[in-house]
Amino acid sequence: MNSRRHFLQKLTASALTIPFLGENRAATLEKFYEEPYDGPVLRVAIMGLGSYGTRVAEAMTACKSAKLVGVISGTPSKITAWQTKYGIPEKNCYNYENFDNIKSNPDIDAVYVITPNGLHKDQVIRVAKAGKHAICEKPMAINAAEGREMVAACKKANVKLLVGYRMHFEPNTLEIIRQRAAGEFGKVYFFQGLSGFRIGDPTQWRLNRKLAGGGAMMDIGVYSINGSRYMIGEEPIWITAQETKTDPVKFKEGVDETIEFQMGFPSGAVASCLSTYSINYLDKFFLVGDKGFAEMQPSTGYGPIKAKTNKGDLSYPHVTHQTVQMDEMSAIILQNKQPIVPVDGEEGLRDLVIIDAIFEAAKTGKKVTLKG
Ligand code: NAD
Repeated sequence: MNSRRHFLQKLTASALTIPFLGENRAATLEKFYEEPYDGPVLRVAIMGLGSYGTRVAEAMTACKSAKLVGVISGTPSKITAWQTKYGIPEKNCYNYENFDNIKSNPDIDAVYVITPNGLHKDQVIRVAKAGKHAICEKPMAINAAEGREMVAACKKANVKLLVGYRMHFEPNTLEIIRQRAAGEFGKVYFFQGLSGFRIGDPTQWRLNRKLAGGGAMMDIGVYSINGSRYMIGEEPIWITAQETKTDPVKFKEGVDETIEFQMGFPSGAVASCLSTYSINYLDKFFLVGDKGFAEMQPSTGYGPIKAKTNKGDLSYPHVTHQTVQMDEMSAIILQNKQPIVPVDGEEGLRDLVIIDAIFEAAKTGKKVTLKG
């Protein structure tokens, strides 16, 4: 190809990704979705056509630079329904036994793993071995040892590993991170993260230790862990934790119902968080420094996210999180875009190291120190 044309094509494509920060992120997001797009498109297969997989697929219909082109499922009737709904060709449909064959399918770039947590490690490693990029739902795995294996396998296969941290692209969240990094809250002293909901059906996989890897902490508490890191902008160096269980029949051995945990950060800031499967309406972040504060409630739900600071309300319009996430992930994978808050396997691993430490602290009653 003529090198000038190639250069111009590359320039157009990269100019078309969404800028991450700045006062006008909302306007640039709007522009991105209004203007025609002719840059590269990430062709994605979704593995696990359950409730969240369905939400992601719906959201992807509005994507500009990512497209659902394939499915991996153990339920033939779901595959047929998705084929009809999304125009997915037969040659891009797989089950859990034969999806390694995706290796020889040139029409799929990445597989988005949206199955129970305990299956993520083996599935992501198989995706990597098939030479495809992996996007994996949170929590990335059920402990840090598994997370390390996944990171190593993707590195070895020279594919990217991303974790479905949709909040890392949410405009209100990014604006608060920008203000904190610009010193607008002064020296940060304290973060509070409250993450919980009341879980129903006792037979679901979320209450099965093998498939879930734990209980509320794996599923919802991880938002307070991850949130404390991006809101404070540091990595924790110590952890304490206390567990309470009101229903040992529903929440069996190794399945946590409620854990309160505290984390200390190198600057002296502390975080105090609650993770629970027993309380509804629990979705709140609060960050305070010596010059101001930020509050988000809801802070990590599907939106609209409501945020305010000591200066007043933030008014970023609602965007479908998974649509923006998948467009951003397309740019990260295909154009090497660097996000403000990482979404890679190392980022997923950091949360798993912290989860391991929280479980240890809750079990022993001792303060656990981390490298930071
Ligand atoms: P779900 O139960 O609705 O769907 C799970 C899917 O996995 C189903 O289609 C099921 O058939 C399939 N599956 C394959 N093997 C299975 C097995 N051995 N046992 C049970 N199911 C099996 O669950 P979900 O809510 O879609 O959650 C899936 C993943 O997505 C989890 O890791 C969860 O933490 C994550 N999630 C993320 C968000 C988010 O906002 N990022 C929200 C919800 C769920």
